[in-house]
Amino acid sequence: MKPIFEKPSLYSYTLPMFKDLLKENGFKPFVADQLYSWVYVKFEFDMEKWTNIPKALKEFIKENLDTSIPKIVWNGLSKDGTRKFLVAFRDDKTVETVMIPAKNNRKTLCVSSQVGCAIGCTFCHTGTMGLTRHLEAGEIVGQFLAVTKFLKINDGEESRLSNLVYMGQGEPLHNFENVKLATEVLLEPKGLGISQRRVTLSTSGLVPQIEKLTEFPPINWAISLHAAHNEIRSELMPINKAYDLDRLLGAIKKIPLKAHRHITYEYLLIDKYNDRKEDIEALVNLLPKRVSKVNLIPFNEYPESSFKRPSVSRITWFKDQLESNGITCTVRTQKGDDILAACGQLKSEMDKKLNLWDGEEENS
Ligand code: SAH
Ligand code: SF4
Repeated sequence: MKPIFEKPSLYSYTLPMFKDLLKENGFKPFVADQLYSWVYVKFEFDMEKWTNIPKALKEFIKENLDTSIPKIVWNGLSKDGTRKFLVAFRDDKTVETVMIPAKNNRKTLCVSSQVGCAIGCTFCHTGTMGLTRHLEAGEIVGQFLAVTKFLKINDGEESRLSNLVYMGQGEPLHNFENVKLATEVLLEPKGLGISQRRVTLSTSGLVPQIEKLTEFPPINWAISLHAAHNEIRSELMPINKAYDLDRLLGAIKKIPLKAHRHITYEYLLIDKYNDRKEDIEALVNLLPKRVSKVNLIPFNEYPESSFKRPSVSRITWFKDQLESNGITCTVRTQKGDDILAACGQLKSEMDKKLNLWDGEEENS
């Protein structure tokens, strides 16, 4: 793939890649461990403070790599502690990153993988923008680093991100190589050391890339299904015209799964559209029972869309019906989860209009 910038980001390098780079350029490869520790353990991004890194290597890095982390240009806090960030990259392009608090002091970061998205789902605000560009691996890792730094400054040392989901702007498997590299950097035990079980990638169903998931670290997979009939799915997601439900389910069956892991199917619930009795029947017939978990996402309304969110009683009915047919099911009801669903779909102005965010607004 063509490089995005002339100088790649330092954070696009996995530890083995960085060791190779050092070796090729006459530096001692073990210094890579020290550098990884400065950046990913101590969160020190200022090269001048890397005391045990040789001067010549610092010069080399300055000349050949970019060490900046994305800038947080706006952030807003919701009542339940969910915080939305607008982050800007070297070329001033921006994406949204959302931090969602969870139980036991856990925090999940929902990152973007592209600026915009080429898939063009009809219900999705990002889909209406088209694709501007892929993010390089370091820009994905950079979202994690920028928010970590923000939390350290604003919430104290104890406040740490523990989970990551690829559910922001963009189709992560369309940017396969960079998302894979970013995942490897995030999982590196000598660096951030995030557990594989705490990373989830959501895809709209790019079959050729799903077939290559054997090359990916074994994280969790979520599939945006949204319909169990081809006609409806094609209307919602043009990708279904290229890879229909048969091909999608066939490819999913071949994803290698570790013990006690399962695939999550995301199902957007749209009022009087895909929330009918026949949709439940089709879903029950389509999904392999024991190993499937369905996550129902009530549609997040926004002004330009004619789709509506079903009533609470309709959502509960849909869930109960699926469960009584043996399918494990959750509903994204909480506010933070709402924003997660909307991650990348809503502009900040729109958020305010929709009342997702209150009062507190900071610029940093
Ligand atoms: N491109 C990937 C990941 C990003 S979208 C994908 O499509 O899976 C993350 C999730 O938000 C997807 O399941 C997507 O279908 C859902 N989503 C998009 N727009 C939404 C909206 N307006 N309301 C609720 N969920 C939405
Ligand atoms: Fe892209 Fe996902 Fe939005 Fe579809 S739902 S347009 S794949 S970001």
